[in-house]
Amino acid sequence: MENKSQPNKNKEKTNKILLGILITLLIIALGVGAYFVFFYGKENEKEKELAYTGLIKQISDGEIEKIEMTVGQTSIKVKQKNIEEEKEVIIPNTQAFIELVQEKVAEGNSIELIQNPENTFIKISQTAFSLLPTIMLVALFILVFKMQGLGEKGKVYDADTVKEKIKFDDVAGLDEEKQEMIEIVQFLKEPKKFNEMGAKIPKGVLLYGKPGTGKTLIAKAIAGEAEVPFISMSGSEFIEMFAGLGASRVRKLFEKARKVAPCIVFIDEIDAIGSRRSSGSGAESENNQTLNQLLVEMDGFDTEETIIVLAATNRPEMLDKALLRPGRFDRQITINVPDLKGREEILKIHSKDKKIDENITLKSIAEDTAGFTGAELANILNEAAILATINKREEIKQDDIEEALKKVTVGLQKTSRVISDKDKKLTAYHEAGHAIVSRYLETQEPVKEISIIPRGVAGGYTMYKTNEDKNYISKTEMEERLIALLGGRAAEKIALNDISTGASNDLEVATKIAKDMVTVYGMSDVVGTISINTEKDPYELQLLGEKYADAIGAEVKILLDNAYIKAQKLIIEHMDKLHEVAQTLLKQETINEKEFEKIFE
Ligand code: ADP
Ligand code: ZN
Repeated sequence: MENKSQPNKNKEKTNKILLGILITLLIIALGVGAYFVFFYGKENEKEKELAYTGLIKQISDGEIEKIEMTVGQTSIKVKQKNIEEEKEVIIPNTQAFIELVQEKVAEGNSIELIQNPENTFIKISQTAFSLLPTIMLVALFILVFKMQGLGEKGKVYDADTVKEKIKFDDVAGLDEEKQEMIEIVQFLKEPKKFNEMGAKIPKGVLLYGKPGTGKTLIAKAIAGEAEVPFISMSGSEFIEMFAGLGASRVRKLFEKARKVAPCIVFIDEIDAIGSRRSSGSGAESENNQTLNQLLVEMDGFDTEETIIVLAATNRPEMLDKALLRPGRFDRQITINVPDLKGREEILKIHSKDKKIDENITLKSIAEDTAGFTGAELANILNEAAILATINKREEIKQDDIEEALKKVTVGLQKTSRVISDKDKKLTAYHEAGHAIVSRYLETQEPVKEISIIPRGVAGGYTMYKTNEDKNYISKTEMEERLIALLGGRAAEKIALNDISTGASNDLEVATKIAKDMVTVYGMSDVVGTISINTEKDPYELQLLGEKYADAIGAEVKILLDNAYIKAQKLIIEHMDKLHEVAQTLLKQETINEKEFEKIFE
């Protein structure tokens, strides 16, 4: 949700509209001319190349349903979602294109790729072709309006407008994150003080988190607290235009930032430009230019320039490592979906400006919305307000909320998982199992946070503090790691007398560790001090003989079996704590380090 307010812009706007009309008239004239040229002229390859760059974007955006191609031919047929007619597009390189599409499919894009073995292709017909100029005309129209909007795209909110706008108080939950941001706010307010002291403030902060978790909101709040301008842009805006434009836009964005500094520059969806640089298609090399420009800009301003760049993404694994180097985005903050308390606070904030029945308990709504983001919660209250209006009520009633919740959850079921009580209990015991078991293992790191809020594919998680100075891992440590990994499964079995698929990733990781212990680190007495890398060379194992393979298998199994037995023992021994942790999780969904330790006092 953007807060748009542009005062004193009316005059400029009228000018722009006039200019727009003029350009449009000119283009109509040009377009009519072009129509005749094209209609009687030859096929225009340029137009198709243009379509290719667009196609790549559409593929990424999941707008393409079906692609039909004939192997070796550069002309392909494309079917867009919700559009009946198929389009023909010329592609520069069939093999590279196939790879690109396959990559997208692997990423979860649902594209049907049909590869015809022989020359069965029917060329585009004359009637369809005559549509081309019309399409061009429409495209030009769109282009003109886009160009007009260009100047407005890097939106600047001046200090005054930001002032009464978003503050940290408007951001619910995220207390620790806000704490981290306070230092940036102070720096923006009094950069001199920091510079005189020789203190270095990060230039860039990356915010990781699902869409709607409040990344934009918190970035705006920093600007609001520091009373500095907020300049924002979305990564996808950088690449939607023609070649070279992305880079020049980045340059312009920073030019503007320098003019109004101190300020916040916010780049949403940074993965759109900052994806890992790989060789390949035109669209990707376009990204490279844009990304390189961003890196140049970030390296270019020194800390005295008081521009803080905040960037957001929900796909951290996609980011080019160059972005994370010191002096760039060297600080990263994860923004998680809110827990029970956070959800209640978010609901409170968003019910402030609504007429709402006093008897409504926000807590009960919060309880029913595990896994929901801030944006989804705001949406529920908004839907409820709409329903209350439609139902001609004086104020929002519990019924409206419940109906809104149903409406939103049914609509959301695909994206947000609504978690059943049974699943919650299972996850709670599973995660408590990991935490309890590792608590009693000497070599394992202390628990930092336990949660039953789903994250990615996992139903919950247990986070440990990390010790980064470590260079070597001992055998004992690895054995205990296996026990901790199997603690989740062990808890399910003993506390609930059943086991679930929830442990599959734990088992995978544990098996890999056990295998490495035996084959890579030579930690098994039976197999011996030997390193066999079966992944690099599958024949190495064969050369050693079947006996070895059997011995390795047996040793891996023994390691895992022993670890599982030990995990179960620990669970049985500390059953009371397991119940306590699991029940606390069910009540408040997350347990932090302090709360966890308190249970053991
Ligand atoms: P993101 O940038 O992570 O996709 P946004 O910051 O755009 O998410 O959030 C969208 C909207 O959801 C916000 O404008 C706000 O109304 C609501 N929202 C999200 N998180 C919070 C929060 N922690 N507190 C209050 N409102 C929130
Ligand atoms: Zn687990």
